[in-house]
Amino acid sequence: MLDTAGLAGRGISEHRVNRRDLLKRAAAIPFLPGIVARGLAASASAATTAAARAASRVRPGDAGWPSESAWAELNQRVGGQLLKLRSPFAGPSSGGEYREAAAQLKNPYYLGDEPALTQTSGWVDAWTSRPAAYAVAARKTRDVVAAVNFAREHNLRLVVKGGGHSYQGTSDAPDSLLIWTRHMNRVSVHDAFTPRGFEGVMTPQPAVTTEAGAMWVDLYGAVTTRGGRYVQGGGCTTVGVAGLVQSGGFGSFSKRYGTAAAGLLEAEVVTADGQVRIANKRMHPDLFWGLKGGGGGSLGVVTRLTLRTRELPEYFGAVLGSIRASSAEAYRALVARAISFYHSDLFNPHWGEHMTLTRDALHLLMLFQGLEQQEAERIWAPFFDWVRAHKEYTFDEPARILTFPARHFWDGDYLRQKLPGAVVSDDRPGAPRHHVMFAEDAGEVGWFIHGYRSAWLPASLLNEGQQSRLVDALVACTRHWSVQLYFNKALAGAPPEEIEAARETATNPQVLDAFALAIIAGGGPPAYVGGPDGRPNPISSRLNAFSIRLAMDELLKVAPGAGSYVSESDYFEKNWQDAFWGGNYPRLAAVKAKYDPDGLFFVRHGVGSERWSDDGFTRRAAPPMESSRTPRN
Ligand SMILES: Cc1cc2nc3c(=O)[nH]c(=O)nc-3n(C[C@H](O)[C@H](O)[C@H](O)COP(=O)(O)OP(=O)(O)OC[C@H]3O[C@@H](n4cnc5c(N)ncnc54)[C@H](O)[C@@H]3O)c2cc1C
Repeated sequence: MLDTAGLAGRGISEHRVNRRDLLKRAAAIPFLPGIVARGLAASASAATTAAARAASRVRPGDAGWPSESAWAELNQRVGGQLLKLRSPFAGPSSGGEYREAAAQLKNPYYLGDEPALTQTSGWVDAWTSRPAAYAVAARKTRDVVAAVNFAREHNLRLVVKGGGHSYQGTSDAPDSLLIWTRHMNRVSVHDAFTPRGFEGVMTPQPAVTTEAGAMWVDLYGAVTTRGGRYVQGGGCTTVGVAGLVQSGGFGSFSKRYGTAAAGLLEAEVVTADGQVRIANKRMHPDLFWGLKGGGGGSLGVVTRLTLRTRELPEYFGAVLGSIRASSAEAYRALVARAISFYHSDLFNPHWGEHMTLTRDALHLLMLFQGLEQQEAERIWAPFFDWVRAHKEYTFDEPARILTFPARHFWDGDYLRQKLPGAVVSDDRPGAPRHHVMFAEDAGEVGWFIHGYRSAWLPASLLNEGQQSRLVDALVACTRHWSVQLYFNKALAGAPPEEIEAARETATNPQVLDAFALAIIAGGGPPAYVGGPDGRPNPISSRLNAFSIRLAMDELLKVAPGAGSYVSESDYFEKNWQDAFWGGNYPRLAAVKAKYDPDGLFFVRHGVGSERWSDDGFTRRAAPPMESSRTPRN
């Protein structure tokens, strides 16, 4: 991890990739002016009100851009953790930093440690990863407060980054001030936690508290590998905790344990006025509700979260395999059989993850919890027997059913030893041993997106009279692009109490009645500006985007008005308010208006963003959406 300790008072660091480089550089940077005259604070505060309502935010070079001395003052306030950002690809390709970055582009832990990069390198005709002007590498809540106040007082575009996994580039904003939470990653486990204000009223419960910059792998290590319990988080180990909870958040076992947002007990948040607020069911309950699925980066900076933990089942398991059909008829029959089998045997809290339908094949990566090996084999036997009984089908990858102790599911040492092909480790010297990633997620590290769409498919499509329509739509979809059915990212079939808990979040209520989230997406290799893979081919990227669009259009014929998961959705979604939040949007907009009336926090297609240009720099005179929108729920 980057550690700038000792730089305080020596000036602002120009950020580079690792600690060694950083320290070297810091020593070479000329000493910047110290705190400027006392008058600076006073004039800044006088500017505050005017700045808050200004028509545009300032960029470097603008007359209102903070002076060097103002930046130096901020640097001092944040204990020397202000970084001037520059892409590692800004220098010559023969340079050490360039070569190190090029070598690490498929390592998500490296990308997360580099504040000038993001986990997605861009999206064709949408956005391209570019560094902010400056970053506060926050260590403490007070650093976040200082950065929020500075951005507000100086009328800056502010952006927040945790794990950096936003597909839509919402943690990426050139010319901005970045609050980077990566170093706020302490995790502590509680046997008995009581949210503030509930002392003596609520029975204390097991929980985990984490600072906002931690990744899920860090929580899984503490809660499951070392603690023998379960916390509902995300499937990808390197996703940031705060970003995922604010997305709603689904993990492989969400069909049993619900969304990550629904498991939030309490959060500490720095709001636009620079206040540190505790949000839970009793304190700022409206803000608390909005943080649970209302979308990251729109309501404030979350600095700490506490999530409930649960008993860990004894086993987790997986069903793997790939089945190819020899004709179009056989393929349709296979899809029909898979959907019918899902409905009759898997549509319950035990089963999550996904089936992928390509042009002529069905790929299985289903995960389960709470079943033993023999039970899982018994459940799947009729399906696999049917496949084997028909000569039209071949197994490209043999059917396999595996179970393993749930406690080792995120245990780096165990996985490297028992399932070496299933995980990729952070191979940098000194990397924590538990820092692994499932190989399944490797394709998305640094990728350049061509198209990405998702849709919640209502459970009514599984009814006998509807299945045939669904199957036709799925097959039609695969003529254009493959589709993945994520059963764990939709809650129909989950326990009623988990559905009720998710109902108390800002997530689109469509999730409650959907059996799966269909994802249709594609992209190419990393394409960072100036990076080794050069520029992506815009023609082929756009052709792929077009095919992805056509594929989803086929599916939407049987699911008109389907909502979309805010964090796994189309950058170009037109009706984003309805698609992401459905009937919850007006309530979410009211929370935004209360806690951030001047729109300091901005993410494109986030709540309240109607009032700003797409880059978040220019205030719009009249928000276009409010009168014309028709909520879907
Ligand atoms: C490879 C990959 C796998 C994924 N797998 C899953 C999955 O299994 N389940 C799932 O539900 N989602 C998944 N996602 C989507 C992911 O949950 C969201 O993109 C999530 O918002 C990422 O959070 P982050 O902190 O990593 O990203 P960031 O890009 O850092 O943040 C995402 C958004 O949250 C904001 N934000 C971050 N930290 C804070 C904070 N402390 N306070 C306020 N705002 C903040 C940012 O400003 C940004 O708008 C995946 C994404 C990728 C790239």
